[in-house]
Amino acid sequence: MRRIIKFIVKKIPRKYLIKFSFLFSALVSVFYKGNTVECPICENKFRKFLPYGNKGNDNRLCPKCLSLERHRLLWLYLKQETDFFSKKYKMLHLAPEQAFYKRFKKMSNIDYITADLESPLADIKLDIKKMPFKNNEFDIVFCNHVMEHIDDEKKALSEVLRVMKKGGFAILQVPLDYNLEKTFEDLSITNPKEREKLFGQYDHLRLYGKDYPKRLTNAGFKVIENKLIDKFTDYELNRYRLDKREILYIAIK
Ligand SMILES: [Zn+2]
Repeated sequence: MRRIIKFIVKKIPRKYLIKFSFLFSALVSVFYKGNTVECPICENKFRKFLPYGNKGNDNRLCPKCLSLERHRLLWLYLKQETDFFSKKYKMLHLAPEQAFYKRFKKMSNIDYITADLESPLADIKLDIKKMPFKNNEFDIVFCNHVMEHIDDEKKALSEVLRVMKKGGFAILQVPLDYNLEKTFEDLSITNPKEREKLFGQYDHLRLYGKDYPKRLTNAGFKVIENKLIDKFTDYELNRYRLDKREILYIAIK
């Protein structure tokens, strides 16, 4: 079973995975029945989570809502430290994640717009470097695991900042190597194999290091390093399967 799941997650293009995920998760949740781990997003309990990632690391992906560690931490942050679930907000969700999309869309306090270059979940197809929105339009922008795919990161970040209202906040998660001091990028490397070796995935253009928040500050955001992760007990970290190194960067305009 494990090998089949690994194969599906690795080999099937993401857009089909998203389209048929209801079928996939229905099948898999039966095999992962149990009460060792718990997903705070879909509130289901399992024997363990699914393996995920290039190395097929174990116990990461929620079989039901397809959340990973970073989604679960972000959800817990929104629940515990913000008024996201009660206050009226206008939100732009770029590259909307499966785990959040349906839940955010149903929330009556959120005026919710999704956008992407190609995702079937997106209301609007767009290029992040040239977005069809007015200045100061959104209270909240989510744009996770996008920047590592963008050649002109500065332009993309300036667009996100432009469409945000003053005082609004953005979540701009990227895959981050906590052992790397400075982001490593070389746009002349275009070979997918080389990119996979150097940047961790065939379509990544750089490998972010610990200077990532500095890059956001340079783009004009005020960055708050949220250390919610430190407040969880070891039991909770294992129960929700969170990454205890993960810092949430809240980018404020
Ligand atoms: Zn879940």
